Amino acid sequence: MRLEPVYGPHPSRCFGSSLGLDPLNFTVKCPLSCAFCPIPVKKSSLKKYSPGELEMLVEESISERELRLETLYIDGSADPFLYDELPELLGKLKSLAGKYGFKLALKTNMYFARALSTVLEAVDLLVVPFYIADLEWSTMYSPAHNLNLSAGEYYSRLASILSEYKSYADKIVFDVYVGRVGLESNLSAYLDEYVHILLYKLRPRKGFIKTLDRPVRNFDLKPVSKSVLGRISEKLVEEGVEAVECSRKSIGVKAKSKRAFIEVYNHIIRKPLRTTEITGLYGDYGIIAIESLVSRKLARKIIWENELFYIPSG
Ligand code: SF4
Repeated sequence: MRLEPVYGPHPSRCFGSSLGLDPLNFTVKCPLSCAFCPIPVKKSSLKKYSPGELEMLVEESISERELRLETLYIDGSADPFLYDELPELLGKLKSLAGKYGFKLALKTNMYFARALSTVLEAVDLLVVPFYIADLEWSTMYSPAHNLNLSAGEYYSRLASILSEYKSYADKIVFDVYVGRVGLESNLSAYLDEYVHILLYKLRPRKGFIKTLDRPVRNFDLKPVSKSVLGRISEKLVEEGVEAVECSRKSIGVKAKSKRAFIEVYNHIIRKPLRTTEITGLYGDYGIIAIESLVSRKLARKIIWENELFYIPSG
């Protein structure tokens, strides 16, 4: 099955109707293995796309499928900073953003940040994930051995980048993603420690607060209650941070789908989808496509938190 760099649109809780762009498209092996990674399986591809090709694919997807987007979300199979021509790509996407009226958001954990001023000038939002769970840091991010960073070193480096680029603080938003493996009552100690790091070491100006709404790579991770999210928001607000709790909205982004088979596949290899989402986004052709993918063993069904999800096989 063809791996394509444009996927969605996805009904994002924080970014609205967002088309995903994965510039690396599985050509680079991600050096991390985050417990919260939304990508359910590892894939690899040889096809690299140039900035011009990526721009063309995004524009084709918007115009041919008559998409009305709130966000173009740059993220996918590995950190976008590993894409060598990122500044050139962002220049092109910025023009498209002006033409079609969407925001440009790029997700990065900042491990590989480079040419940061150029990137920050181009994007509307630089989204930095900040995971909170009853897990140690190394289990949560699982960096490859050759990266050799400890939690302390990672946060110090992040803090120093944030302080160097504080004139862009309005564009840098923390995506505070909360889950639990054990009982919610066991989360407290971890939560206090992680929130302390976030508030007093990284000092964000704005944070999106959310819990899992679909399975992630560490299948044992489960959602937390609204009261936990509320507690985190309260702590952030007390320290002057703008805290936005992201919750699930109606799908409302039905797109024309000419190639449902490929489009649905490329969506589920980045984010597992529930049946209602497939119908809402891709219509009846989407359901026919996903059932066909299942019968060809390219996708499978799983139950997570009492709901049926489709994920890719293998
Ligand atoms: S979340 Fe991003 S950085 Fe982490 S493993 Fe997945 S692709 Fe890599």
